[in-house]
Amino acid sequence: MTQSAWSRDGQPVDATAIPSGEWDNLKRNSQLGDFIMPCCKAPAVLKTSINNIPFFAHHANECDTAPETIWHKDGKAAVLAALNSMGIPGREEVQGCSPDGDKWVADVIFSVFDRTIVIELQRSYQHLRDFKRRQERYIASGVECYWLVRKKTFMTLGKATSRLLLKREFGNVYPPGGIGTGMLPELPVAMLDTEAEQLVQFGMFKTAPVKVWLAGILDGAYQYRGGTWNLG
Ligand SMILES: [Zn+2]
Repeated sequence: MTQSAWSRDGQPVDATAIPSGEWDNLKRNSQLGDFIMPCCKAPAVLKTSINNIPFFAHHANECDTAPETIWHKDGKAAVLAALNSMGIPGREEVQGCSPDGDKWVADVIFSVFDRTIVIELQRSYQHLRDFKRRQERYIASGVECYWLVRKKTFMTLGKATSRLLLKREFGNVYPPGGIGTGMLPELPVAMLDTEAEQLVQFGMFKTAPVKVWLAGILDGAYQYRGGTWNLG
């Protein structure tokens, strides 16, 4: 299941942005092929969970896409659909280059006023130095970068960043107020769950829909405080 899909004409669709009456109407009246699964481009059917959550599912009960790719594709679709419902055009897999000639490919990129923002989706763990190198490459290119990772990746990364944070900011003495999730101010990372309700998890076990998280990036409410990236 996923809460984001593509329309027949290639627009990202956020199921949570559709009022429930309209969703029921679409369920009754849409044709097979009106909506496409982001993971494998198979036809999607519209469903509603027992908790009243709208979602898309495969028409046939099979998905050809490798599990490691599904999270990445569903995640990109979730971000693009949320942007679309906010009236912001986003693009995926866009290439760019830093002034030093360092090339990058952004998972999702969009511009609002004079800001260019990239959302990078990282499923499997990469070394902290690679997170930082990629982050610095975007900064050098005049681009803001925010990360969404799988929970498991967040936990592994948190071990490395906590160690660095403790050493750098607190001389290896654990502060009485704690260090939150132990993230770094220069590396905004949150978790994305694509399997159930598509929620961004950040802070100390706080969650928000992708759209709310993106709005927080735009209005500055998504901030670093006390070791944690959080919505204020
Ligand atoms: Zn699929």
